[in-house]
Amino acid sequence: MNSVTAVTLPRINPDRLWSSLMDLARIGATPRGGVRRLALTDEDRQGRDQVVRWFREAGLEVRVDEVGNVFGRRAGVDPSAPAVATGSHIDTQPSGGKFDGNYGVLAGLEVVRTLNDHGLRTRAPLEVVFWTNEEGSRFTPVMMGSGAFAGLFTPEFIRERADIEGKTVGNELTRIGYRGPQPCGQVPGGGMYAAYFEAHIEQGPVLEDADLPIGIVTGALGQQWYDVVVTGQDAHAGPTPMALRRDAMLAAARMIDAVNRIALAEAPHGRGTVGFIQAEPNSRNVIPGRVRFSVDFRNLTQAGLDRMDASMREAFAMAAAQCQCEVDIAQVTKFKPCAFHPDCVDSVRDAARALNLPHMDVVSGAGHDAVYLNAVAPSGMIFVPCKDGISHNEIEDAQPEHLAAGADVLLRAMLAHAS
Ligand SMILES: [Zn+2]
Repeated sequence: MNSVTAVTLPRINPDRLWSSLMDLARIGATPRGGVRRLALTDEDRQGRDQVVRWFREAGLEVRVDEVGNVFGRRAGVDPSAPAVATGSHIDTQPSGGKFDGNYGVLAGLEVVRTLNDHGLRTRAPLEVVFWTNEEGSRFTPVMMGSGAFAGLFTPEFIRERADIEGKTVGNELTRIGYRGPQPCGQVPGGGMYAAYFEAHIEQGPVLEDADLPIGIVTGALGQQWYDVVVTGQDAHAGPTPMALRRDAMLAAARMIDAVNRIALAEAPHGRGTVGFIQAEPNSRNVIPGRVRFSVDFRNLTQAGLDRMDASMREAFAMAAAQCQCEVDIAQVTKFKPCAFHPDCVDSVRDAARALNLPHMDVVSGAGHDAVYLNAVAPSGMIFVPCKDGISHNEIEDAQPEHLAAGADVLLRAMLAHAS
């Protein structure tokens, strides 16, 4: 076998990458061209079996950990060197697409296949990983497998999580044959990855809008999620004069408007969304006495998130007082803002430059497995455009040449750390 030098770096095989993506998308395919492979269902097992078959065919040594994360390892010339890893997830949303997550796993597989084609060995071992339940649709929390690997959740906590039917992660892992013997968070030979890279569709419109094939992901927005309950008094819509109402819906409406204003004041990285709302009694001729809604705030810095939190509390208290209602705000989820490791960000940028691929720095608005990995190993991400910026949807689409470009960048970035 030859050793790897920068000048002789091969290019990945775009057709093979595309056909593997299409083959995997047949498992759990939906009539409208999407994919439904919820975590730890029979469809997920079939998807896992398919990818494991491909891992083995590519010569990877496969191991499964106790929360169902699957690792394919390609030996390096120096067995004592810490591995360079890549991966993502293959579970999907209920009406998900072909590319979210799947692309990152199969781009990693394509890197290995390309090295195999050219008989190239790296100094450090390489690993391709798929993490259990990134989507968080059937089981919460999201990014479960990578979070456990990074030590944020214990394996016991993960295995006790249940879906709405009461089926637990632990039992479902056993049922589909993916409760492995490997302790979670351990890498063969001890230590941790030298670097972790994840290629992913952007899931937003920025790259497509700028007409660029590659996004150098410098970090991910922090997130703070809240459950809000506004309590007033239900009363008849006719006999109750406007001035004497305690209208929880009116208060909630002013609060929702405030969420939007607070996020706009934090441009360009602030985000504020109310995506869930429930009114009681939800009857056309009754003034609502109770309204529940969610708030999702995102920002690039913790200071920014703190400002949004403070502004929200002030605005909600004022709206509640104006409407003679009470408001209760509970923070339910928090992800700290993430800055990817400068070495990994630079490797991705250098790779895009070396390949003459137009690129820009971007920040991820969504959470990804790489955000958790970044807590235990230097990590970076590569984004490629997706059509109209749409994902978590059956119409999610991406161009073969963009997917190939991202995989070429991944190959170079990994080799920069492994050769
Ligand atoms: Zn994803």
